[in-house]
Amino acid sequence: MDMIAEKFDAIVIGAGMSGNAAAYTMASHGLKVLQFERGEYPGSKNVQGAIMYANMLEKIIPDFRDDAPLERHLVEQRLWVMDDTSHTGMHYRSEDFNEAKPNRYTIIRAQFDKWFSRKVRAAGATVLCETTVTELVRDAKDKVVGVRTDRAGGAIFADVVILAEGVSGLLGTRAGLREMPKPQSVALAVKEMHFLPEDVIEQRFGLKGGEGCVIEAVGTISRGMAGLGFLYTNKESISLGIGCLVSDFAATMQSPYALLDALKDHPSIRPLIAGSEVKEYAAHLIPEGGYKAIPQLFGDGWVVVGDAAQLNNAVHREGSNLAMTSGRIAAEAIVQVKRRNGPMTKQNLVLYKTMLNKSFVVKDLKKYKDMPALLHTNSRNFFTTYPQLMSQAAQNFMRVDGTPKIEKEKATAAAMIKARSRWGLVSDAVRLALAWR
Ligand SMILES: Cc1cc2nc3c(=O)[nH]c(=O)nc-3n(C[C@H](O)[C@H](O)[C@H](O)COP(=O)(O)OP(=O)(O)OC[C@H]3O[C@@H](n4cnc5c(N)ncnc54)[C@H](O)[C@@H]3O)c2cc1C
Repeated sequence: MDMIAEKFDAIVIGAGMSGNAAAYTMASHGLKVLQFERGEYPGSKNVQGAIMYANMLEKIIPDFRDDAPLERHLVEQRLWVMDDTSHTGMHYRSEDFNEAKPNRYTIIRAQFDKWFSRKVRAAGATVLCETTVTELVRDAKDKVVGVRTDRAGGAIFADVVILAEGVSGLLGTRAGLREMPKPQSVALAVKEMHFLPEDVIEQRFGLKGGEGCVIEAVGTISRGMAGLGFLYTNKESISLGIGCLVSDFAATMQSPYALLDALKDHPSIRPLIAGSEVKEYAAHLIPEGGYKAIPQLFGDGWVVVGDAAQLNNAVHREGSNLAMTSGRIAAEAIVQVKRRNGPMTKQNLVLYKTMLNKSFVVKDLKKYKDMPALLHTNSRNFFTTYPQLMSQAAQNFMRVDGTPKIEKEKATAAAMIKARSRWGLVSDAVRLALAWR
């Protein structure tokens, strides 16, 4: 197909969560929108755990539950601290989550993104897949005025370009809009889909019709690196994965695949996936630099949203909701500028940042602004030493062997002091509390 000669109100690069949210919002407000996706179809390149947060999608498509491909609504969340043979867990399960409009769902991105993209098209946007945007086009005053793609034909022009190209953000980086994300600000996650019959999943996790459970785990599974393991129940499959900081992988030369194999073989995980058939395998980056890694978000003729803008809350494992919200807010800002016939200049597009600053997206990331550095520089203590100590303490406490309880408590305290020293324990607690404020 030859390239399009007409001019658009907006071009969106990428049909992931943020790009679809932006394209849908602008198209439903009557803007002429062109969206490019390099994948064969929207979602074909996308990887997520995946928990989807309903509130943020409701603000874009209120009746999404009518036809969106949703797997299970979550009624139970388990947080495990693991050593090599055990896990210490905090589980929260509530019947309240069996509500008429559940709050969180598991989804499979390949199906979900296709559905979202159908909504984008129905709202009036033009969506072109298998098309990679190769370059931003600028005018003599350096304003972004369009894009070039790998299709035949020349540049395509628009008043504003929305970069929703995901975590690596190559296009924006090449155009000098921001730096490449640093290895200590990005995690590499690997994930497998384990297929099992629906009733087996429900039996293993104590679920009934449509209910879901997720497990998120830290500890020796990340071999001293800053990382997280996850297990999410879908209708007829389990998503199982693990991710650690790229800088830690580089420093330790460990293989993500070996980590995933060890996780699958852990005695707490093995029975949950026993007998499953692995059909899909994926690897993807996750931005984890937090507030301090957020780049410039807007300029003359452009805005950046979602993972490309590093909008990801690693502490709460939330990304898609920040992506959808930033896409929606960018689109609403653009609609406002358009309505008052304003040019898409830096002076006008600052509205996007002003609106984003008022949302949970920036407020949450700001709250945890010191957490990424703390976890990165203390990964061995937080991800190995403390999980091991916690496990030893739990086992010591549970095992009834005639040792007086007072001696057990003393042994636990002595083990902690030996591992971290009194000063180390106090300083870790204070730094964690300060980063959590
Ligand atoms: C293993 C894993 C588990 C996760 N689990 C969760 C979870 O449970 N809950 C949660 O909320 N978040 C989770 N996340 C994070 C979440 O997936 C992201 O935050 C979210 O997908 C970001 O959306 P996005 O639209 O910004 O980017 P993406 O979804 O990555 O979309 C970017 C799109 O742009 C396209 N693209 C890139 N460059 C070009 C180009 N030059 N031209 C055309 N198209 C281009 C890509 O093909 C892609 O479709 C997880 C991430 C990973 C990797």
